[in-house]
Amino acid sequence: MKPTEVLKTYFGYDTFRRGQEEIIEAILRGRDALAIMPTGAGKSVCYQVPALMLPGITLVVSPLISLMQDQVKALNDAGIHAAFINSALTEGQIRKALSLASQGVYKIIYVAPERLESWEFQDFAAHTEISMVTVDEAHCISQWGQDFRPSYTKIVDFIRRLKRRPIVSAFTATATETVKTDILRSLQLANPKVVVTGFDRENLYYSVEHIRKKDDFILDYIEKHPADSGIIYCATRKNVDKLYEELFKRSVAVTRYHAGLGGVERKKNQEDFIYDRSPVIIATNAFGMGIDKSNVRYVIHYNMPQSMENYYQEAGRAGRDGEPARCILLFSPQDMMINRFLLEQKDFSELTGEEARLIRQRDTRRLQTMEQYCRSTECLRNYILQYFGEEMEGPCENCGNCHREYTEVDMTEEAKQVVRCVTETRGRYGIQSVIGTLMGANRARLRELGTVDYESYGSLKEKNEADLRALISQMVSEGYLHQTEEQYSVLKLGDTTPLMEEDTRVILRTWKAKEPEKKKKAAR
Ligand code: ADP
Ligand code: ZN
Repeated sequence: MKPTEVLKTYFGYDTFRRGQEEIIEAILRGRDALAIMPTGAGKSVCYQVPALMLPGITLVVSPLISLMQDQVKALNDAGIHAAFINSALTEGQIRKALSLASQGVYKIIYVAPERLESWEFQDFAAHTEISMVTVDEAHCISQWGQDFRPSYTKIVDFIRRLKRRPIVSAFTATATETVKTDILRSLQLANPKVVVTGFDRENLYYSVEHIRKKDDFILDYIEKHPADSGIIYCATRKNVDKLYEELFKRSVAVTRYHAGLGGVERKKNQEDFIYDRSPVIIATNAFGMGIDKSNVRYVIHYNMPQSMENYYQEAGRAGRDGEPARCILLFSPQDMMINRFLLEQKDFSELTGEEARLIRQRDTRRLQTMEQYCRSTECLRNYILQYFGEEMEGPCENCGNCHREYTEVDMTEEAKQVVRCVTETRGRYGIQSVIGTLMGANRARLRELGTVDYESYGSLKEKNEADLRALISQMVSEGYLHQTEEQYSVLKLGDTTPLMEEDTRVILRTWKAKEPEKKKKAAR
């Protein structure tokens, strides 16, 4: 059989999607492979089709038990002999599965990475023909990723111990250069075929809403889209519970998911959602990996996520069927505080001080990028694609920012005051102090820092804080200023400060006010 025939016979699809055939053909020619494809692009088929065509067994290393179980069930339903070996099985069941496997009953076996380190499993592998080792969710190998799993770094030792080196293929949705390099190096892929498919999901409509009353927005949205299935992500369990109760009180059919719930309840809630008994689920980011629900029409982020990687992955759970779907991020300035707090809570006790410092720095930079996305007035799709290293031509005309109306205000003079203030701070203070100084705030902290004696002190006292924040954010993204990446970041002058040139103008784009109750500066 040819790959297309296998695809049709076992999976029922007529054609390959972008990238799939390239990967499959490389593997069938015996070449290692790394595929970086967005969530929902169809990575599983890329190793399942060749697994059925290679002579021996394919081992799929996968990080989550639930993920393995779903995949194996889907394969079994399609008439493919597959099994999983993980801690959900008893010793006896594992022995039985391994024995069946060595008799050639299974073509595909899913294993947790820790299992590869067990003596029993290594013994099995030594006596079995293993054609391919596939590493799913391969970004777990990278210390820089959100989902680092130390046992992933030992996969390569397992492979090295095998009598014949199998084909090694790796799959992930994380496209950043560091993660990619880490995967290639850590798995020691030999002259691999690397395929990166486009990150653009044309059917997704991205938007950011700057609002305070998030609950009202969500209630209103659900009311207006009663037939739609949606996911609402919150940053914390507490937020999940609060919102859940709020919606439950108003008899909206919702369920919830977070790591604080018992296993039974989590499973039930997840299934209620998947089978549309509760079309809406409120969840922390613990929910979603490996969930394949194609008709999710919207993903709303109640809080800003910690990175573009997270956002892209979570938002990407909308519209997997290719039909139009919405990805809405509800932003409020408090989200930065919540996220800073969450990052500070991270446990680095197993890392050296230097590693911890680097990771903190990276986390902070990611968070800043995420905030920039929320405050951006540019095309949101372009922003995302550029982040993942793709270029686009012009605005997409299909995102919240492309559809929004702006007012443009010349803020050149104000920008000059900002530059003056940052110069006076000699790049030592953060955005909060700079804004306070410019507005002439009477704060003990500013007196302590001595900024009350600056020439720029109070030079913008007629401005409001939100506008100054927006201005500074825009100045950072345009390179006039630089925001450092430490945990407590400070503002410095950018590499170029061309503002002093005659004809340079800083135009602040702000959204036309939608809310009539928008606060005005007091007249007196
Ligand atoms: P990923 O692991 O990349 O997130 P999956 O492998 O779960 O994505 O695939 C996402 C969905 O796309 C699944 O429902 C899968 O059956 C479907 N799919 C995969 N390949 C094809 C194809 N060639 N044609 C149509 N649907 C496909
Ligand atoms: Zn756009």
